[in-house]
Amino acid sequence: MSIHQRTLHKAVLFSRRFCSQSFEKGYPIPESFLVNAAPHHIENFDKYKEMYQWSIAEPEAFWSSQAKKLLYWKKPWNKTLDFNFDIQKGNIHVEWFKGGLTNACYNAVDRWVEAGQGDRVAYFEEPNLPNEPSRVFTYGALLEQIQRLSHFLRHQCHIRKGDTVAIYLPNIPELPISMLATCRIGAIHSVVYAGFSANALAERIMDCKARVLITCDGFQRGTKMLNLKSVADEALKIVDRAASHHHFQVKHQIVLQHLKLDQTEYSMHHPRDIYWHEALSNSDPHCPVEWVDAEHPILVLYTSGSTGKPKGVVQATAGYQLHATSTFLYSMNYHLGDVFFASADCGWMLGHSFMVYGSLANGATHVIYSGVPTYPDPGRTWAIVDKYQVNQFLGAPTLIRSLLREGDEHVKKHSRKSLRLLCTAGEPINPHVWKWYYETVGESRCPIVDTWWQTETSGVMLLPPPVQGFIQKPGSAGVPFFGILPKIFAQTENGTFQESNQGTLCIARPWPGILRTLLNDHRRFEETYFHPFPGYYYTGDGCVRDEDGCYWLSGRIDDVIGVSGRRIGTTEVESALISHPHVAEAAVVPVPHELKGQAVYAFVTLRANIQPSENLHLELRQVVREKIGAHAVPEMIQWSPALPKTRSGKIVRRILRIIAEKGHMLSASREELGDISTLAEPQVIDELIQIRLSLVNNKKQVA
Ligand code: ATP
Ligand code: MG
Repeated sequence: MSIHQRTLHKAVLFSRRFCSQSFEKGYPIPESFLVNAAPHHIENFDKYKEMYQWSIAEPEAFWSSQAKKLLYWKKPWNKTLDFNFDIQKGNIHVEWFKGGLTNACYNAVDRWVEAGQGDRVAYFEEPNLPNEPSRVFTYGALLEQIQRLSHFLRHQCHIRKGDTVAIYLPNIPELPISMLATCRIGAIHSVVYAGFSANALAERIMDCKARVLITCDGFQRGTKMLNLKSVADEALKIVDRAASHHHFQVKHQIVLQHLKLDQTEYSMHHPRDIYWHEALSNSDPHCPVEWVDAEHPILVLYTSGSTGKPKGVVQATAGYQLHATSTFLYSMNYHLGDVFFASADCGWMLGHSFMVYGSLANGATHVIYSGVPTYPDPGRTWAIVDKYQVNQFLGAPTLIRSLLREGDEHVKKHSRKSLRLLCTAGEPINPHVWKWYYETVGESRCPIVDTWWQTETSGVMLLPPPVQGFIQKPGSAGVPFFGILPKIFAQTENGTFQESNQGTLCIARPWPGILRTLLNDHRRFEETYFHPFPGYYYTGDGCVRDEDGCYWLSGRIDDVIGVSGRRIGTTEVESALISHPHVAEAAVVPVPHELKGQAVYAFVTLRANIQPSENLHLELRQVVREKIGAHAVPEMIQWSPALPKTRSGKIVRRILRIIAEKGHMLSASREELGDISTLAEPQVIDELIQIRLSLVNNKKQVA
C-alpha cells in the first residue's frame, strides 16, 4: 500500500462512526479577565466572527491589512497571493506578498529601538536555581548583540544570503540572538533543540548543509550538567566522516562560554572554533539589515517526529512572521508591557513563533528559562510567575499533567495573582486536566486558550478566542483563526469523500504561515500534505466539529482504533482514563484482536504514591464504559512508570503500539521500533518491554 492509500484507508475507517465525544459544559470567558485587562484587541465574539468572515470572504484584503499593520515593508509587494493547492493541476506552491521587501529581525527588534523603546525588556532570563542572579536583555541590548554577531557571520564566516547556520543552544537569550542575527543577513537558520544527541544534530546539519554551527560550552538543567560542546564536536566528527559524500564542511563553530566550564572539560579546535565573546567583541556593533523578498526562506525546522522520521519544514520570511505575529497578538490578547512566559523552548516552532518572531514583533517582554519546571520543587513554575509578575502563561499538556500529579499545595503556596490568561498547545488537553488548569491554577479568573497548530502551520490555526461572548469547552481547541478554512472529510459508501462534522481535518486555503516545502524534498512535501485529499492541505489529525462550530481534536488519523467496526479516537479514551483521580497519564493504542479486529490497549501512569491494584483496574474499565461505552473499554491495561515522549513532550503512540503488539518478542536491537532519535528518554522503552513481557508470562494481570 502506498502512503497515499494507507492514509485514505485510515480516513475511511475513522469516518464510519460518529465519535461519541462527550461534550462538556461550557465556561464563559471569565468576567474578571474581561474587565481587568487593557482594552481588548477584539471587543467580543460577534466582532471576532465578523473579522473571520472578512478574512474568508476576502483573504487577500484581510491579510494585506494585517501585513501593513503588523510588519514594516521596505518595499510594498506586487502580488498578495499566488498559489496552487491542487496536485492534479501541477506542482504545489504558495507565495504571499511576492515582490515585497522586509526583514524579520528588523520587524522584531530594530523597530522598537528606532521608536525610542530600546529600554523595554525583551527577555528576563530565569537562572537554573532560584537564588542565582538573573540576566535581563532589553531590546537595545538585544540589537547590539545581534548586530555584532551578524557582522561576524557576514564578514568572518562569509555567510551570504541563503546560506544556512545551525544553532545548538539551550533556551537562553543567546538562542534568539543567534536566530535573529542569522535572519538579519538573509541567512537561514536551523535550530536543533539542545536535548538532541550528536547523531541527531549531525543528521540535521548535513540535511541543511549548515556552514556554521553556534553552540555553547554547556548548561545546567536542574541537577544535570550537559556538556553541549562535546556533543557538538562529536556531531561535527560525524559530519566530517561523511564529508566526501555530502561535499561540504562546517567551517566555523562559535562557542558561547555559558557555564564558563573549565577548559579541561572540552577542547577548542583551531581555526574552526572561536569563542562567542571574542567574535562579538572584535566585531562591529552596526550591521545593516539585508532586505529580502517576502518569500525568501527564513528557517528550516524539523517536526517533532511523533509519527516517524522528522520532516525539515521550510518557512518563508514575511508570511511566516505575519502569521506568528498576528496569532500571538490575538490569541494571547497581548498588550505592550505584559509579561509572557512560555514554559517551552525557542527550539520548537512554538518557541520560534511565540518567543522570537511573533512575540518580539509585538514588542513583548518574555521570561526565558532553560531549567526544569519542577526543580528544585514542584512549585517552581508558579514561583517564576510571581517573581516576574507573569500575565500570560503557556504550558504544554504534558507539563500541566505533571504539575497536577504533584498536588495542589505546590500551586497554592504561590500567589499567581498577576496571571490573566493561560494557554496550552502541542497535544490535546484532557478535559479533566483543563478543569484543574482553569480552576486551581487560574482560580477561574483566566481563560484557557487551547491552541492547535503544527510545525508546518507555524502559527495558531484553531483557538478559543479570549473574547467576551465566547464559551470555552474543556478539551476543545475552539474555532478557526482568521483566514483558516478547515474542512472535515468523511468517506461515503461508494468511496468518495464528502464534508462532514467528523473525520479527517484538512485546510482548504493557504494561510501566510503555511510551510513552503520540505527541505530537499518537494515531492515528499506534496505527497505528505497534498496527495491524500487533492485540493486541500492534509493535517493528519482526526477531528469532530460540534453543533456550535467548535473543533475537538480526536488524535492522529494513524492512531485511530477500530473495534468491531467502530472507530475510536485515542484522545477520547485517554481523557476518560485520566478523569480517574488516581491516573496521571494514559496512552491508548490498538492491538489485533481475533473477533473484534482490533482492541484497545492502555498504558497508564498512576499519580505519585498510588499503587496499582485489581480494584483500580476494574474502576478504570468502568470509567471508560460509563464515559464512552463498552466497546471502548481497554482489553488490557499496562501500568507504566512513564511513557515514551518526544523531546517536545508528546506521547509517541507509534512506539507504544509496537510494544503492545509484540513487545515481548522484540529483538534487542530495537530496529523494529524505527527512528527513536527524537525520544527524550529512550530507556523508558526497555522498562515498558519488560513489563509487557511479565504481562505475557502472567496472564492473570491482563484483563
Ligand atoms: P511529526 O509530524 O514529525 O510526526 P508532530 O506532528 O508531533 O511530529 P508537531 O508539528 O510538533 O510534530 O506537532 C503537531 C501535532 O501536535 C498536531 O498535528 C497535533 O496532532 C498535535 N497538537 C498540537 N496542538 C494540539 C492541540 N491544541 N490539541 C490537540 N492536538 C494538538
Ligand atoms: Mg506532524
